[in-house]
Amino acid sequence: MDENSREQTWEHIRRNPTPAVLILGGGVNGIGLLRELALQGTDCLLVDKSDFVAGASSKSSRMIHGGLRYLENREFRLVRESLQERNRLLDNAPHHVAPLKTTIPLPSRFGGLLRSMLIFLGCKVRPGERGVVAVKFGLWFYDFITRKDRHTPTHYLTGRDESLRRMPGLKSDLRATATYWDAWITQAERLCIEMARDAREANPSCRALNYVQPTSIEDGAVVLRDEVSGRSLAVRPGVLVNATGGWVDLANARLGVETHFLGGTKGSHLVLDCPALHEALDGQMVYYQHVDGRVCIVFPFLGRVIMGSTDLRVDDPDLARCDGDEIEYMFQTLRGVFPGVELSRGDIVYVFCGVRPLPSSEGQVLANVSRGHSLRVLEPDERRPYPLFCLIGGKWTTFRAFAQEVADRILEHLGAERRCSTERLPIGGGRGFPLGEEPRRQWIARVAERSGLAESRVAVLLARYGTAAEAYATAADAGADRPLASLPEYTVGEVRRIAAEEWVEHLTDLICRRSVIALLGEATGPALAELAEIVGGVLGWDEARQAEEVARALEEVRVPRGRL
Ligand SMILES: Cc1cc2nc3c(=O)[nH]c(=O)nc-3n(C[C@H](O)[C@H](O)[C@H](O)COP(=O)(O)OP(=O)(O)OC[C@H]3O[C@@H](n4cnc5c(N)ncnc54)[C@H](O)[C@@H]3O)c2cc1C
Repeated sequence: MDENSREQTWEHIRRNPTPAVLILGGGVNGIGLLRELALQGTDCLLVDKSDFVAGASSKSSRMIHGGLRYLENREFRLVRESLQERNRLLDNAPHHVAPLKTTIPLPSRFGGLLRSMLIFLGCKVRPGERGVVAVKFGLWFYDFITRKDRHTPTHYLTGRDESLRRMPGLKSDLRATATYWDAWITQAERLCIEMARDAREANPSCRALNYVQPTSIEDGAVVLRDEVSGRSLAVRPGVLVNATGGWVDLANARLGVETHFLGGTKGSHLVLDCPALHEALDGQMVYYQHVDGRVCIVFPFLGRVIMGSTDLRVDDPDLARCDGDEIEYMFQTLRGVFPGVELSRGDIVYVFCGVRPLPSSEGQVLANVSRGHSLRVLEPDERRPYPLFCLIGGKWTTFRAFAQEVADRILEHLGAERRCSTERLPIGGGRGFPLGEEPRRQWIARVAERSGLAESRVAVLLARYGTAAEAYATAADAGADRPLASLPEYTVGEVRRIAAEEWVEHLTDLICRRSVIALLGEATGPALAELAEIVGGVLGWDEARQAEEVARALEEVRVPRGRL
């Protein structure tokens, strides 16, 4: 039996029911912590009630950014940490994280100064329009922080006429535009899966299993239920970590612990197949403000356009969905920036919605709630003879810093020493990644020669898997390089490999979180049927199960109806 199989993993947990650390939640924060602790030699188990990365970590705006607007809230420490972590991700995950040129249309010169000052002074004021001076100050601060570790160009301002010449689609009543660089992550989901694999490699006693959740604490042990088979087992960790993001209070409640740490908000995004908008963006992200003061973004993404997001209070993250009103709102915001671009419902190829794990903040303006992270430790008691570490808030960008901070507290509790730092440690296919045109060309030529594949195919694999592409390219599986009839950019061998090695339980795991098939709107009926047959061949699905998986996947990728 494959040592990574579900059966093997379950059997390992049954035989080793006392891991040093049990982590609940396999989003970027839980998996980041798993990797961090595995590298320190700590024996960990991570479980997720759903698939890994099914929560906010696959629903974010994919910005790896400092957070320009957090400056208004005096969150200088968060912005500094975010910019540092952004630069580290550019170094450690160059296969998925890249600089992103961003333009901000500015409607006035002095607009928003008073409002920004009031927010800065801690007054409860909704953010509103920001003009040239306010934005210039923020960008100057950005460049100042990164002056000693510059990974991206510095910002500049462009006058109205020149801005409209460069981006003719922009609404013409602007004063100027500001251009600066942040970063974006193409395959956020894959980076998490790669970290989980790195953790396993660094420490073979570590395990991660999806579709497993705690049901209760009994006789001091956490009872875990396998949602796939229905069986249960009990685990007695040295430390229990709740890294369930927007579900933190709900997960605590399941353990009999009442907390009110979270006050999450849902945010939705649309993925559009709209060549006119793609062209209008000219390869850049546009970061703009709607008339209600909310900041929105729109950027080109692998031939499509992603736009978002909304910010609405929700109580239960499991019920958060993008609804028709949100779609209409996002279309309306875009008309205010690119008035000439006609959008229709038919342009939407995918919609996603996630819950920001924001700290509880009664009465605060939602947009001003801190995006920083914090740790709350609940000491052991009679019923639970180990501490409960709850991870609150955070950004995708800062997961490594958060994991490092939490790992240090856990190591201290366990009386263990830190062995290494992850600051400069490449992730997954970022190891040995060829940087620059010439090294990239040589890498592709070498792997093409070794594998017998065309260079163009190796280039696709390199973009998708980083240097792990070499293993995909040279796999000696029969029919490995046969393209799928419905998705010729993918091969049978590639899909089989993911199904066998990357914790795939459902077809949705493959299309939504091991690849960008769903995100790009490519999860059509024929594609799903073909994928189900290939995955089914690896996981032993009969025809009925394949049909069930296809139906489930079609429901997952369905675009909601709206008033458009
Ligand atoms: C709309 C939106 C846009 C965003 N944009 C950005 C951005 O551009 N840049 C940025 O840096 N950050 C962004 N963020 C924030 C970022 O995505 C989150 O802060 C981050 O992903 C949180 O990760 P997490 O691991 O804490 O939570 P999640 O990713 O939500 O993971 C929690 C996991 O816990 C699991 N779980 C729940 N209950 C249980 C249980 N009882 N037992 C076991 N497992 C459980 C869930 O299935 C889930 O997989 C955005 C967030 C949203 C929602």
